[in-house]
Amino acid sequence: MSPGDAAFLFLGTGTSSGVPVIGCTCAVCTSDDPRDRRLRCGAAIRFKDAEGAPRLLLIDTPPDHREQSLRHRFDRCDAILYTHNHVDHTFGLDDVRRYNAIMRQPIDVWADEHTLDHLKRVYRHIFERHKNVNDSFVADLIPRRIDESKPFDLFGLRITPVPLLHGRLPVLGFRADVLDADGQIAASQPGPFPLAYCTDVSAIPPASWRLLSGLRTLALGMLRYRAHPTHFTVDEAIDAAQRIGADQTYFIHMTHDIRHAELDPRLPDRMRLAYDGLIVTDG
Ligand SMILES: [Zn+2]
Ligand SMILES: [Zn+2]
Ligand SMILES: [Zn+2]
Repeated sequence: MSPGDAAFLFLGTGTSSGVPVIGCTCAVCTSDDPRDRRLRCGAAIRFKDAEGAPRLLLIDTPPDHREQSLRHRFDRCDAILYTHNHVDHTFGLDDVRRYNAIMRQPIDVWADEHTLDHLKRVYRHIFERHKNVNDSFVADLIPRRIDESKPFDLFGLRITPVPLLHGRLPVLGFRADVLDADGQIAASQPGPFPLAYCTDVSAIPPASWRLLSGLRTLALGMLRYRAHPTHFTVDEAIDAAQRIGADQTYFIHMTHDIRHAELDPRLPDRMRLAYDGLIVTDG
């Protein structure tokens, strides 16, 4: 992988309702600032593998995935990683059938057992295709169960699941490190690597902090100013980011309580608010 090839794309940075919120006339929902328009949360990691082939990994498929894909002109998807089963992170899965059609191959879908069970139940027409009345055009997916304690390798990246808590629900963050020619984590990693994506988090279990050490880039959930039972507030997210100490942290999954131009300049050093369409190539 050469340094110029790798990018971490913030496809959507909003909470489950998106921003603007339907029917809301608040200052953020009516803001002219494009950074205050937030589609539901999803990200992508774009890079070239050791053979120089382009690769695109999606993290979650929110209901807005189609719009996000069109914006970035995606024409492939090599794997999907799911953080958890919630609707705002999964209900764009149907649209990945276009990548199957273009690439003429199935897509691996990586998720923990709870999330895979949810996907198989909601998307029966995909996972039990033989039961469909008509054999219509549905996605071609291969479910891959993540063992929370076991990293796995995808196209020259080592993906480490990072167990997190979303209220009482165990969810996954993901860390991505670049491997060298010997299959070891490279001593010097290009672009935004090592990176981690941790959304919908209200607590980081003790054993997970070490999985987040030495990051160049961190995406971290930050819902709003007021307390919430299943998400970090602004202050909690800043505290966690401080402790993790990534070279650069980008906050995601924000409600309409957060006005980009107001909060972003007040954040501590090496912390920024992400926004839809942000592409990070160097941390
Ligand atoms: Zn969410
Ligand atoms: Zn609003
Ligand atoms: Zn959630």
